[in-house]
Amino acid sequence: MEDSGKKVKIAINGGIGFGAKLNAKQLITLSKYMNEDEELELTTFQQLYIEIPESNIEEIIEEFQSVGLACYPVGNFVKSLRTCNFCKGEEEEGMPVAKELNRRIAGKPVPFTLKVAYTGCPIGCGEPMLSDIGVMKIRDHYHLYAGGKAKGKDAEVGSLLKENLTPEELYETVEKIIEVYSEEGKKRETFYKFFKRVGSDYLIS
Ligand code: SF4
Repeated sequence: MEDSGKKVKIAINGGIGFGAKLNAKQLITLSKYMNEDEELELTTFQQLYIEIPESNIEEIIEEFQSVGLACYPVGNFVKSLRTCNFCKGEEEEGMPVAKELNRRIAGKPVPFTLKVAYTGCPIGCGEPMLSDIGVMKIRDHYHLYAGGKAKGKDAEVGSLLKENLTPEELYETVEKIIEVYSEEGKKRETFYKFFKRVGSDYLIS
């Protein structure tokens, strides 16, 4: 594809499903917007970065969505939910809840990139304990963790904030935490630092 105009980086993935996969049709669609010497960047939070022409960004995103690709902004936003592979099945592992949570929070502006992870059982393949916010399904309810830090020599597991939430309670609590961080976090303050500064009681009071 030849285009000398300005390009914008967007994040894409195949949406929430059984594993982080892309099908052939999606790959063909993406390749239409790439020159042979261009690359897709694979991030650690199950997103690919692609640069597309700014002049027709809306039509391209619509085209991506028509083949089942999910598109998100890049930068200081809530990332799309990083999930486990739902190996025990869609309903048992709460995939509809993960999808709804993602729909509500992904792409919201925050002081610094915020990573939220979801895992369908206590085995925890989605690594919720090491994310800014982590959700773990336990039987029919959800445990919520926050303040994990995956990077650095001072990596830390998150703290359990709430146990046995219903889906609605989970959505409301996560949305409220993100709202507080969004409004009261300092510019470029990571959620980890914000969490240490304000404390868990303040976030869920
Ligand atoms: S966290 Fe549980 S449901 Fe999800 S992939 Fe791992 S074992 Fe399967």
